[in-house]
Amino acid sequence: MSTPTTPPETSPARPPFSIADAQARVAAELDRIAPVVDPLAQRFADAGHTLALVGGPVRDALLGRPNADLDLTTSARPDEIERLVKGWADAVWDIGRDFGTIGCRKGDWTVEITTYRSESYDPSSRHPDVVFGDTLAGDLGRRDFTVNAMAIVLPGREFEDPYAGIVDLAHGVLRTPGRPEDSFSDDPLRMMRAARFAAQLGFDVAPEVVAAMTAMAERIDIISAERVRDELVKLVCAPHPRRGLTLLVQTGLAARVLPELPALALERDEHHRHKDVYEHTLTVLEQAIALESRLPDGGPDFVSRFAALMHDVGKPKTRRFLDDGTVTFHHHDVVGAKLTRKRMQALRFSNDQIDAVAKLVELHLRFHGYGSGQWTDSAVRRYVRDAGDQLERLHILTRADSTTRNARKAARLQRTYDDIEARIARLSEEEELAAIRPDLDGSQIMEVLGIGPGPRVGAAYRHLLDLRLDQGPMTEDAAREALLAWAAAHPD
Ligand code: ATP
Ligand code: MG
Repeated sequence: MSTPTTPPETSPARPPFSIADAQARVAAELDRIAPVVDPLAQRFADAGHTLALVGGPVRDALLGRPNADLDLTTSARPDEIERLVKGWADAVWDIGRDFGTIGCRKGDWTVEITTYRSESYDPSSRHPDVVFGDTLAGDLGRRDFTVNAMAIVLPGREFEDPYAGIVDLAHGVLRTPGRPEDSFSDDPLRMMRAARFAAQLGFDVAPEVVAAMTAMAERIDIISAERVRDELVKLVCAPHPRRGLTLLVQTGLAARVLPELPALALERDEHHRHKDVYEHTLTVLEQAIALESRLPDGGPDFVSRFAALMHDVGKPKTRRFLDDGTVTFHHHDVVGAKLTRKRMQALRFSNDQIDAVAKLVELHLRFHGYGSGQWTDSAVRRYVRDAGDQLERLHILTRADSTTRNARKAARLQRTYDDIEARIARLSEEEELAAIRPDLDGSQIMEVLGIGPGPRVGAAYRHLLDLRLDQGPMTEDAAREALLAWAAAHPD
């Protein structure tokens, strides 16, 4: 058995894995889903077909991780699956039919049933050709990693694990069922998936798998941008993104799919005139993650995390060494926002996501432009207006962007930012008050009272404003009546 390769300092603490505990967890999970899947499995058995829980749900049940998906595999072909779920499911969909998948809903459960596959690939094509198979073992053999190649046949609960996935699960290792070179040649996206699962599960990637990823990194180029993007998003939103990103950079995959990231590592300044931008970036990402509880949904938040990852990508292009030995990165915010936009467009992100991330990258330095606490009201207002709906994420990014080891400097930056946030809160409260108007304007007052411009209009206006602040908004008719009552009580 080979030893894991990921450096120990990045290894997250994984709880110890005991087979007995894992078995108990799986039994509990199978009891939980039995009312849904056992009757279904009986239908398949009656028709002479095998039905088995497979992949993610088996892995996650063994790990005790919650997983809402019920992924099943079967000897039945898609038409037959469809026939067998009709009358059982509440709703059925077949958008995955060409890949062998029929989806359905039963109560609150989403169930996806896929015909056994034994793919044969054209190595130059972007998508695997789908060839249906006849055995569960064959289906498991074409899956990406041994920990994803375990199945439990239902309703009898026989555990099928031809590649000893449970051993790799216990050791926290990602390994391919066959030779990694063959697996990645069949579907290069699996290299991205290795990094994604490393980030999600906190697992190590077996050395021979890392070696194959390194040797074959450029093969990722044939994969569609959308599939690469989806794996990247899952990786970035995972509990241990540093782990996945480090692997992408070390294997050369990042140079193909997100070259701005390894470019930061190349920028290491051998004379230490500035900090290591790559390492700084990963720290900022982790600090941004720690601040996600500030967001309405509490995270994980892709936009905030990706902005942290991209915030300094403008630095390599803008670095200048001055004669006095100092270094500058003028306009790296603007340049970085442009590079971010281009990269996200290439990865087919939505315009909303691109705009949000690019805005954060562009604004990430703004806070530092105003010195300490000397912001004018108008500077605060402009900050809020320019951040728009990204203001909360900008707070997160700006705070996360402080990685100084100087505790006093860090505390000062934090205090200054606390001040800015307090100013923003106070000002926006005041501005809301200032935005409140009486229910009638000056010309309506003149019309109701039958008078021309003069101090009486101002007095009436102030009276209506008081009423508005005391009582909240009123209808125009009520405001007219209130105005007439005031005029009667205050003849001039
Ligand atoms: P999650 O849904 O939690 O992200 P998962 O393991 O279910 O994780 P999916 O992408 O939903 O991952 O894939 C379901 C299963 O299908 C995997 O567990 C794996 O067995 C198999 N699989 C998916 N994509 C591939 C692939 N490109 N190559 C080989 N097997 C794959
Ligand atoms: Mg899944």
